[in-house]
Amino acid sequence: MHIKKQRLLTPGPTPLYPPALHAMMASDIHHRTEDFRKAYRSCLADLKEVLHTSHDVLLFAASGTGAMDATVSNLFSKGDKVIVGSAGKFGERWAEMARAYGLDANVVSVPYGQVVRPGQLEEALAREPATKGVFVQASETSTGAAHDVQAMGRVVAKTGAIFVVDAITGLGTMPLNIDGWGLDVLIGGSQKAFMIPPGLALLSISPKAWRLSETSTLPHYYFDLKKEKKSGEAGESSWTPATSLILALAESLRYIKQLGMEQLVENAQLLAHATRAAVVAMGLELFSPGSPAASATAVKAPRGMDSGVIIKEFRNRFGAIIADGQGTMKGQIFRIAHLGYFDFADLFGVVAGLEIILKANGFPVTYGTGVAAVEQVYEQAAVKPQPVHA
Ligand SMILES: *Cc1c(COP(=O)(O)O)cnc(C)c1O
Repeated sequence: MHIKKQRLLTPGPTPLYPPALHAMMASDIHHRTEDFRKAYRSCLADLKEVLHTSHDVLLFAASGTGAMDATVSNLFSKGDKVIVGSAGKFGERWAEMARAYGLDANVVSVPYGQVVRPGQLEEALAREPATKGVFVQASETSTGAAHDVQAMGRVVAKTGAIFVVDAITGLGTMPLNIDGWGLDVLIGGSQKAFMIPPGLALLSISPKAWRLSETSTLPHYYFDLKKEKKSGEAGESSWTPATSLILALAESLRYIKQLGMEQLVENAQLLAHATRAAVVAMGLELFSPGSPAASATAVKAPRGMDSGVIIKEFRNRFGAIIADGQGTMKGQIFRIAHLGYFDFADLFGVVAGLEIILKANGFPVTYGTGVAAVEQVYEQAAVKPQPVHA
């Protein structure tokens, strides 16, 4: 027996920031007290700061999908025409959700591994000028592809539709100028780059999107944006909040502010860049080479090898949980995450482990090929040695 540390290396949930985890232990606190209001207010204010937006920011006790659901049920009405730009499993979630609420969804989809082009949305909008909303993922975690939400925002802003962006893995992995790019609703989740456990969803909402809430007739109760805004202004949530997660979020936001959102994004981008260099050097193929996301790198398993073997080997040999493909991509790809609390030491381990696993399973790799590629990216980036943050 050798020691195997458990390592969570998936693109959600992600590794936890230890001080945030410790903060959760103080959660025997009542939510209608000034102590808790202080933490809740600081979360809302710090979120606004790290999202760099003047829009209202709301928090919910839910996984990320809760904020997606809240957006549809509070801003739209049965029969509303909407466009979904779908490039993977999470794009399909938008389409399913829109249909579940009786919206008239025009799904603009591309094959897995590709991205929806802004021009495709422009054409779809021109064909249907009554469109009320356009839904996309900033980063499509299932394929490891990133959308050009800046260009898309420009297209949507010219119309009466609102632009709804699932940035659950986009936040902290790519620049997102919410106010400047016309990102009317932007959605995030706690278990991604915020480095805390699942259970909190958040969204920012623009004045243009608020206007739609005035005419929306879909039923909703738990997720009530207007009620939540009012509660938030009083330093509270409408219902019992996930107190432990709020305390954790306050701590992780303190860290993100200290680091700077730009640095968090740069961190993910640098690790993603190094990962792509490593897997390509090892003779593997990227699944989304055209527009790779910095949230996670999706890699095709070598021909004849099920990616499930690689996933299982990582767990058995190294105690590491990495992500398989979802849906029909299961068995075809594996995904290496970079969002949130990941560093170069993690990546050296993952890439060395991958070399060992591939070689043991009959794929020819010269030891050190992938690791050397990561080392070169590290060296070229001139990552400054810095003291470790607490
Ligand atoms: C993780 C994720 C979600 C949210 O899923 P939940 O399980 O509800 O947290 C939504 N969209 C994307 C792109 C994601 O990566």
